[in-house]
Amino acid sequence: MIQQGIAIGVVGAGTMGRGIAQLFAEAGHEVRLYDVQDGAAVRARDFVADLLRRAADKGRITPEQAQAVLERIQLQTTLDGLAGCDVVIEAVIEDLGVKRELFRTLEPIVGDQAILASNTSSLLVAEIAAACRRPQRVAGLHFFNPVPLMKVVEVIPAVRTAPETVATLRQLVQGTGHRAVVAADQPGFLVNHAGRGLYTEGLRVIEEQAATPAQVDILIREAAGFRMGPFELLDLTGLDVSGKVMESIYEQFQHEPRFRPSSLVRPRIAAGLYGRKSGEGWYRYQGQQRIEPERQPPPPLPDGLKVWISRDAEQHAGIATLAHKAGAQVVSEMSQADLLVLQPWGRDATSCCVAQGVDATRAVALDPLPGLDRHRTVMLSAVTTPGARDAALALFSSDGVPATLIGDSPGFVVQRILVTIVNIAANIAQRGIATVADLEDAVKLGLGYPQGPLTMGDAIGPMRVLTILRNMHACTGDPRYRPSPWLQRRATLGVSLLTPEAPRT
Ligand code: NAD
Repeated sequence: MIQQGIAIGVVGAGTMGRGIAQLFAEAGHEVRLYDVQDGAAVRARDFVADLLRRAADKGRITPEQAQAVLERIQLQTTLDGLAGCDVVIEAVIEDLGVKRELFRTLEPIVGDQAILASNTSSLLVAEIAAACRRPQRVAGLHFFNPVPLMKVVEVIPAVRTAPETVATLRQLVQGTGHRAVVAADQPGFLVNHAGRGLYTEGLRVIEEQAATPAQVDILIREAAGFRMGPFELLDLTGLDVSGKVMESIYEQFQHEPRFRPSSLVRPRIAAGLYGRKSGEGWYRYQGQQRIEPERQPPPPLPDGLKVWISRDAEQHAGIATLAHKAGAQVVSEMSQADLLVLQPWGRDATSCCVAQGVDATRAVALDPLPGLDRHRTVMLSAVTTPGARDAALALFSSDGVPATLIGDSPGFVVQRILVTIVNIAANIAQRGIATVADLEDAVKLGLGYPQGPLTMGDAIGPMRVLTILRNMHACTGDPRYRPSPWLQRRATLGVSLLTPEAPRT
């Protein structure tokens, strides 16, 4: 059981160490902070002091509370100063040799019952623990940056970690007000694993020339309701950093096709297009300001436009109403129409036209997934004429809802990115990397997605997610789209994707 105000050692006083120190000092613990580099711990405490002063100035805490928190962070000049700590958390550089050596040195300094936790983001916790005499006391404790604001922490048991170690760390984290989730010692743990889909599928869309990075971001924000799209996120983290994570997770998962990185990334890293920090990435920047690509006004609706809507279109009635309001005529004979509208799930416009005997030169597809009131995606077939293209864009933005025009792509942009996220999450559940509840919360808190990924799948409809994936798989032949068994079982049974496995005992 955690006592109020236990002694916590923090080794490494960089970006993460100073945040971890602040979090536990604010929760009432005594924190001992050590860094090998001269002056680093002092700078870290000054940084925290500045944050606390600003919080006091804004009236969020009293000056006395700020002072008390600061006094609970004691700077140490040697590792011996951590003797007597109940828990030591390391946040030193991401280097297996350095972390192993550190824990080996710490073991005789701290008591036998003390827990040693690593904030590694990409190393195997088991490999760090292997250096220790008592590996049962070693676990991963993965915080997110900035630590006080990112309210989720992954607790990672390695193969030899004792259940009591996990329980104590969970309790310690929960005591700070952050949500502790338990994740297996597997590549990317939980949050970085679940977050792969947005990047890999976003990159795949632009690789296929179906849309530009800015279009993907706009659709993910405005149609799917995410805070940020994949390319603005990559610009924020830096492609040099994210590129390495993509390669590393792919390698560690033994080249699992779902995580296959894009060949577009390396040339951009070589050219220094890292993102915000280098002034140019997928976007250009002036200072911290992003230069937004211009949005073109839609073309005018052609007079007397005749529209045919596929009978199986999900939003047949809504599209017909929109057409009437815009002054277009809805016709039931395909041969009479200037514009033919399809609404495929997981298929490209061209293959749908061929399957349904629709003239692809007059055809476009409208993504049924986001709903008609959100930013719309209009997809061309391989041979749609400029006349039909402009008429479609005019029609689908005639009521003021913006529409983005994309090239042919199985699953548009929103369908394919969302089902990829759901499919990866289903596989995380299948592999028992985390419980369903921990997975859902970790994604909302760690990635800021509007919903947990399995809830997202339920909202689309499990059977529909399965159909989209199967169609994308059939269309591309790419094993990255093969549906997870977890998803297939729940979809075909007609139950929620949140349904856990049946108890075996
Ligand atoms: P950082 O470079 O800001 O800080 C690392 C600090 O560790 C430096 O002050 C350095 O002097 C110190 N250090 C290095 N070797 C040491 C040793 N042997 N003993 C004591 N101090 C030592 O790095 P960071 O961004 O804070 O990352 C630290 C750890 O946290 C890494 O393992 C990283 O992968 C992980 N992590 C980082 C983030 C992030 O967003 N920055 C997020 C989650 C996890």
